[in-house]
Amino acid sequence: MLLSTGEDVLDRLGIRKVNSGACAGDWIPVPSGGELISSNPSGESPLAAVRMAGEDDYEQVAANAWETFQRWRLLPAPKRGEIIRQIGDELRRNKDDLGRLVALENGKILAEGRGEVQEMIDIADFAVGLSRQLYGLSMQSERPGHRMYEQWHPLGVCGVISAFNFPVAVWSWNALIAAVCGDTVVWKPSSQTPLTAIAVQNICNRVLEANGWKGVFSVVIGRGSTVGERMLEDRRMAVISATGSCAMGYRVAEVVGRRLGKTILELGGNNAVIVMDDADPELVVRAVLFGAVGTAGQRCTSIRRLLLQKGIAREIERRLVRAYGQIRIGDPLDPATLMGPLINQAAVDEMMSGLDEIRRQGGEILYGGRRLSRPGYFVEPVLARAQPSMPVLQREIFAPILYLMEFDQLDQAIAWHNDVPQGLGSAMFTSSLRSAETFLSARGSDCGIANINIGTSGAEIGGAFGGEKDTGGGREAGSDAWKSYMRRQTVTVNWSGELPLAQGIAFEL
Ligand code: NAD
Repeated sequence: MLLSTGEDVLDRLGIRKVNSGACAGDWIPVPSGGELISSNPSGESPLAAVRMAGEDDYEQVAANAWETFQRWRLLPAPKRGEIIRQIGDELRRNKDDLGRLVALENGKILAEGRGEVQEMIDIADFAVGLSRQLYGLSMQSERPGHRMYEQWHPLGVCGVISAFNFPVAVWSWNALIAAVCGDTVVWKPSSQTPLTAIAVQNICNRVLEANGWKGVFSVVIGRGSTVGERMLEDRRMAVISATGSCAMGYRVAEVVGRRLGKTILELGGNNAVIVMDDADPELVVRAVLFGAVGTAGQRCTSIRRLLLQKGIAREIERRLVRAYGQIRIGDPLDPATLMGPLINQAAVDEMMSGLDEIRRQGGEILYGGRRLSRPGYFVEPVLARAQPSMPVLQREIFAPILYLMEFDQLDQAIAWHNDVPQGLGSAMFTSSLRSAETFLSARGSDCGIANINIGTSGAEIGGAFGGEKDTGGGREAGSDAWKSYMRRQTVTVNWSGELPLAQGIAFEL
């Protein structure tokens, strides 16, 4: 049944049984990188095949993106914004189908799949407004008859490398902003989710063609070790925006850094929530449920560590065990389902070996952890009592495992909270202004995102999204994140007819 629902959706989104995985303005008919089968993690059934890009196909895509950039950068930004507005409209029209395809290929539940497409629509709207607001500052010159200001120019080709868990939204955060900034975009999606990328590229191609453009957005589906590495080394890629594991980020930083290229790194998270005794338990449980179990714990912003003050710890633990027992796990397309499968067998293996490690290090599994005996990669979410000193807490296990820990004093909780390599999302639940402001102060959370009385996942696009430390330091989406896709030029115009030097220096013959 799943597959027949899938076939209609695939057809409407222009996905064939065998697809090209390289688009350089037009789809390259037979790319040379071998065949990739995209499967449905809910039933392990194949959805469609993709011929991956080889190095020669990559070259064609990159050359075309570079050539298109020479013209696209000259189109006035509000006109670029108008094309992005049309892409937003087309995404609105295809929201349900694209959301379904995300659920089919990635395994997240339909509501989250649609939510991802909504995020694309929201960022398109944001980008349209931004296209008239790429402001620079003007400064007061110390010299008479001089004008100083800064202006922002398009940067070049933006390479976007995306992770499987947000197969379309992360592309849009980068690509739609980069495009209004005047950059062209080459996208290398995860090999786990190639079909969603092809569907999005088809939408972009339609809109671009209707406006007399081609190749502003392009895609290369291929291995990280071949096509991905070529992208990192390619000087035409003025900025590489890479979303994925910390291990991938270290490699991207090294290779792109060697050529002094720019990077935007959005890497692994290990997010904690501090719950004070004066928190509202109802809010805590609802937020934790969505944050730890949503997307089967496969969000960079998933809640992984729950730090509970002694007075409230047992109550939250009791409520969570009860709530976890009621989570409906199953077909992501069934509206009653709250948790779909993990992405693949490797993810199940990683989770199971993580559970062994937790037990060996003295942790106690309070709930869950079994693989369900049905096709697909379904597992029970886990609640585990843990000690802050357990080494396993230091790394991100990309699965629905939530550690529960007890603390006495806020300072102790903040120290534990910050004592991991990653620094993406963080939150506190409290009704005390003093506790909240301590958490938000310079001696509080060391993360890129800090929330009070809401969980860590489900960011809005209006804010700059990203994290510190090993999460990579990049910022995407709202606020002034657009500046990473442009180059700043400081301009001084002397209209005085004299030549005074700065700092009052006299330099006369
Ligand atoms: P991954 O690191 O396995 O892969 C991410 C992408 O990097 C894929 O497209 C992959 O092909 C590519 N890649 C791998 N090696 C490469 C190389 N040498 N050169 C170029 N590209 C290369 O990650 P994943 O399993 O797809 O996603 C899960 C990870 O992503 C988690 O760690 C999660 O926290 C992180 N993530 C972070 C954010 C964020 O905004 N901080 C958002 C989503 C996911």
